[in-house]
Amino acid sequence: MTAEIIDGKAFAAEVRGKVAEQVAGLKAAHGVTPGLAVVLVGEDPASQVYVRSKGKMTVEVGMASFEHRLDADTSEADLLALIARLNADPEVHGILVQLPLPGHLNEDLVINAIDPAKDVDGFHISNVGLLGTGQKSMVPCTPLGCLMMLRAHHGSLSGLDAVVIGRSNIVGKPMAQLLLGDSCTVTIAHSRTKDLPEVVRRADIVVAAVGRPEMVPGDWIKPGATVIDVGINRIPAPEKGAGKTRLVGDVAFDSAAAVAGAITPVPGGVGPMTIACLLANTLTACCRANGWPEPEGLTA
Ligand code: NDP
Repeated sequence: MTAEIIDGKAFAAEVRGKVAEQVAGLKAAHGVTPGLAVVLVGEDPASQVYVRSKGKMTVEVGMASFEHRLDADTSEADLLALIARLNADPEVHGILVQLPLPGHLNEDLVINAIDPAKDVDGFHISNVGLLGTGQKSMVPCTPLGCLMMLRAHHGSLSGLDAVVIGRSNIVGKPMAQLLLGDSCTVTIAHSRTKDLPEVVRRADIVVAAVGRPEMVPGDWIKPGATVIDVGINRIPAPEKGAGKTRLVGDVAFDSAAAVAGAITPVPGGVGPMTIACLLANTLTACCRANGWPEPEGLTA
């Protein structure tokens, strides 16, 4: 069997297209432009790249982008004061604080200072609780993107066996909650799981969110299973020249693609969906803030 490749890049472009269309609709009908504020503290190079591309794509879908770049030694009080201003700003519908924060800032305190209705990353404790109890919430972007791709591929997920490898608060746990919400039978595996290969072999759906290059080989995959590879790992690529690197996922793509029914590649799978879902969440937040209907096909 050769797996169908789930093209996250194309899927993300489709999601952004839907967002852009609905943003244009809101502008025309109500004169309101959804706005996303991104806060970056310090000069972490990877974070700078993410923030730049988030800002660019926000503008591309017709939303307002507000970037706040603060010095690495910004005090917690100053950061909290900025968040309070953004919470109160009616032009800002979504607030994202780029993580990780410099060590002197308490991430939990900062994230929980964001108005939960504007918490487009879905990391606020209220949103975590709402998701865990099956209530309407802001859903973390990466798992939301995975869910959208799974729904598009399978239609109904009801009754399928799903294994999520990884139990982080930003990917593994919310992913498992979403799959449970869609009536999968969910197993969450982690570093202490016994006989991981056997656990993975039972799964109709495998979501790998570990951060270990090509850890899941093809012979762990049940024939025909759907494999969603969240991992982003940079490894040396001497074949491209001295000192060169390339990105790989947590799944050994070639061997897994020979067995799976469908698989997301790295790069070009889950990654592009994460920013698309951030834009979708900002639109959702704007609609909810104004009491308008939820955007079509863009929420959990
Ligand atoms: P974390 O490091 O927070 O969590 C990793 C999880 O993997 C932990 O629960 C850990 O278990 C588990 N784990 C580690 N080793 C093993 C093992 N040998 N067997 C089974 N489980 C193991 O990572 P994140 O969830 O933040 O990220 C995971 C990956 O996804 C990373 O590569 C990251 O770069 C990528 N990522 C990609 C995004 C995207 O947009 N595509 C967005 C976010 C993340 P334990 O809890 O027991 O330690």
